[in-house]
Amino acid sequence: MHYQLSNRLTGRSVLASLRALVPKRPLTPSETLRIAELQANRLLEHFAVTSAAVPEEIISELPRIRVIHEPLPVSGAAHWANGYWLITLNADEPTSRQRFSLVHEFKHVLDHTTEGHLYHDRPFQTAYEQAERVADYFAACLLMPKRVVKRLWCQRQQNIIELAEKLQVSPAALRYRLDQLGLTERAPRCYRPIETARRTAPQPRAPILETA
Ligand SMILES: [Zn+2]
Repeated sequence: MHYQLSNRLTGRSVLASLRALVPKRPLTPSETLRIAELQANRLLEHFAVTSAAVPEEIISELPRIRVIHEPLPVSGAAHWANGYWLITLNADEPTSRQRFSLVHEFKHVLDHTTEGHLYHDRPFQTAYEQAERVADYFAACLLMPKRVVKRLWCQRQQNIIELAEKLQVSPAALRYRLDQLGLTERAPRCYRPIETARRTAPQPRAPILETA
């Protein structure tokens, strides 16, 4: 399947254009997330993708990208081999998981020349952990675009299983994305009996003891 190119990225390769969105200076963690979302949106615009499900061919048919599916001890891997990027996906995992892994690995490919600006060891997160988190976020932004998900959700397509099938993602990934987009309410992290008691049943004051 071939996708019509929009004018946004023509004149240079898609990889080079998406990499050029990264400023040449050290970025904060929140900036790396914003850049990841910008790269995902630019790739969607490039192929004029505006509806679900996002076709994985927008990555797998790029020049210098080859995708193979075979048994692996992990979900996916990417490495440069003989003039192209080889992305290997674990054939034993569900299709929705392989789609997510493809996009996650593609973000690592994108970051190959810019990771020095993007990720740094920090007190509570290594550069490796940060790169993994951002690759997941990029995959979520690409496979579950904000505009598409919000439109479907507002059209009352709020059955998680059906919506996940439409987007070809796992229900768990969709729940996480809905939470990111503020479309669902996060479950409370813990039960707070003291506050609840104060709100629902005010305790009588202890009698003031009179002293002689
Ligand atoms: Zn990874």
